Amino acid sequence: MTVSLGMPALPDPVIAPRRKTRKIQVGSVAVGGDAPISVQSMCTTPTTDVNATLQQIAELTAAGCDIVRVACPSQDDAEALPAIAAKSQIPVIADIHFQPKYVFAAIDAGCAAVRVNPGNIRQFDDKVKEIADAAKAAGVSIRIGVNAGSLDKRLLEKYGKPTPEALVESAVWEASLFEEHDFHDFKISVKHNDPVVMVKAYELLAERGDWPLHLGVTEAGPAFQGTIKSATAFGALLSRGIGDTIRVSLSAPPVEEVKVGNQILQSLGLKPRKLEIVSCPSCGRAQVDVYTLADQVTAGLEGLTVPLRVAVMGCVVNGPGEAREADLGVASGNGKGQIFVKGEVIKTVPESQIVETLIEEAMRIAEEMGEPVDGEATPTVTVG
Ligand code: SF4
Repeated sequence: MTVSLGMPALPDPVIAPRRKTRKIQVGSVAVGGDAPISVQSMCTTPTTDVNATLQQIAELTAAGCDIVRVACPSQDDAEALPAIAAKSQIPVIADIHFQPKYVFAAIDAGCAAVRVNPGNIRQFDDKVKEIADAAKAAGVSIRIGVNAGSLDKRLLEKYGKPTPEALVESAVWEASLFEEHDFHDFKISVKHNDPVVMVKAYELLAERGDWPLHLGVTEAGPAFQGTIKSATAFGALLSRGIGDTIRVSLSAPPVEEVKVGNQILQSLGLKPRKLEIVSCPSCGRAQVDVYTLADQVTAGLEGLTVPLRVAVMGCVVNGPGEAREADLGVASGNGKGQIFVKGEVIKTVPESQIVETLIEEAMRIAEEMGEPVDGEATPTVTVG
């Protein structure tokens, strides 16, 4: 049968309009204003290992990373920056702590931006004019990256601990120094490992100026915990329009951070959805092994980049309804699977053929939707 497979006529609804922020450039990627919310990550390779770093940047780029950060703790790392900045497919931000001289090295190296942490760069305040002048001359933007773990000592003494107010005071003070020197191309982050403190800090910061904000829950933990913390904190802020670029921090390979970041944006309707598997949680009514079925379909469709919604349902209670709403779906029962395409049952197959039939149909539909042969995005799984 012939099925109409056009893109949706109307854009997906968003929860709230974006907060109006100043737009800056991180190399070729705009951040703030009406620019799409970008996804960032950070290399885990030693920056001195240029090939390994470029390889990791290529993997991050393929996973949907928009901007990448590399650490620059030593002179050797600073010397590796020009080659990395020149060959990376996405803008590179140098992450500088302690030594202001590396800020200048990163600017000279052709990095798109520099992240500075005012709390632990020696005599940072005295260097702001020099940094602002050098960055402006090179067209490089800055991130003022305040972090709970390295808050300015004066503020730690004043507040007793890194409270939201302390993080914001540090950020606003540093922002005012850059602005005094007529430098405005910066974004700000105020990261904390506790999502509640982090959300409060960004809310306060958003009230203080129109700076673009880089969201992050710092040291969020291993993949499972870090994903939950980041999703809840980012969700609380993004759903109110706060946040212009995001970095999910996980104790896991950085490609996982990028996948989670993209999935958070897609879930909130802030990025076009790609492949989405809608699978039921299963229950006592299930007449098929839903977990295995969903896993097999997800694995079989890995890499599809078109906005395809595939429903995998365990029985006929909600199955036909969900399967009808999806582009493609199966409702299982009595050892068989009813296969739906755009709301129509196109065939009924034995249980053993459900996975291969779904994959076959999905590939056919994806091709009709213009799926590139070598699509590399990762599918998303919604378990509902
Ligand atoms: S679709 Fe059926 S098996 Fe799945 S959760 Fe709903 S009732 Fe249970």
